[in-house]
Amino acid sequence: MSEEKVIIYIKKCLDEGRMSEAVETAKFSSTSLSKEELKAYIYKYLEKGWMSKALAGSKASGIELPKEVLTGYVNKYLEEGKIYSAIEASKIIGMPLPKDKIVKIARDCLLKGKLEQGMEAYKLAEEKPPDGELIICGSLCLKEGQLYSGLEAYKIASKTPLVEELVICGNRCLDKGQTSPGLEAYRLANKTPTKEMLRSCGEKCLIEKRHDDARTAFVAAQKIKEEKTKPIEVREMTLEELHGLNELEEAWKSFAPRACMNCENEESFKERYFILSRCPETNEEEERLDKLMEKYGVEHYAVGVFGDDKGIVDSATCSKCGSQNVCFD
Ligand SMILES: [Zn+2]
Repeated sequence: MSEEKVIIYIKKCLDEGRMSEAVETAKFSSTSLSKEELKAYIYKYLEKGWMSKALAGSKASGIELPKEVLTGYVNKYLEEGKIYSAIEASKIIGMPLPKDKIVKIARDCLLKGKLEQGMEAYKLAEEKPPDGELIICGSLCLKEGQLYSGLEAYKIASKTPLVEELVICGNRCLDKGQTSPGLEAYRLANKTPTKEMLRSCGEKCLIEKRHDDARTAFVAAQKIKEEKTKPIEVREMTLEELHGLNELEEAWKSFAPRACMNCENEESFKERYFILSRCPETNEEEERLDKLMEKYGVEHYAVGVFGDDKGIVDSATCSKCGSQNVCFD
């Protein structure tokens, strides 16, 4: 190795916290390494929370690290919320961590949406995190598009996230080009993202050369298109069957014919109900639905939306005059 390369190598070792390797290399290659330089590195390790590397460095360089300096750093880590560094350092130097301080840090972490750190700190304090903190944490995670941390926080609190939170999370994920969590969030919310969102997610994946994620996004976008162009399916249902449909809202159960437009009868109607696989979107589709309903012998009908864009058709025949020209409300 040339002298220049040796210096680069030693510098690399020092930067990565491998001081004994740096010291050895310097010794064999007769490269000078000043105590001041080494000491500066050791304190740099401590600043970064690398307690074990600092101690190993102190041993390799013969630079002493007073106990007060070490305990001072453990307290510093705690105050800065560097929980892992504090735990590791406290173990190394055998300094017990004050419980009230740990609980405070645990709480701060959860309220900032740092689930893993917060849970670790609560575990260390041997305390159960309050559900309220977990829900705030979960909600924050979801808003930031961190689906799995968000779900985990809610799960620990034995709660379920709101549909709106899941949708926000899904949007955030798709926006960042994270196809799988984005689709998963939408699936959990029982909603469908738009074709455009999926396409732009796929494009983002392509730019970042994540081809599998891109393909998943484009396939999902394609599926949405297919579903939208599928012809509307009509199925007749009895009133009893309708009552068995959970997704049918109360409002629709009370949806009823009010008056015959032909003879003004307001009492006696014979009703028929149909479920549409989706609601018509264009005039063309409405005309097609009219023809379809004619095949069932239905001329006049009212359509309502329920569930995920499904339709319910109510048609009534006046028992007095036999007209289908009935108004609903
Ligand atoms: Zn009538």
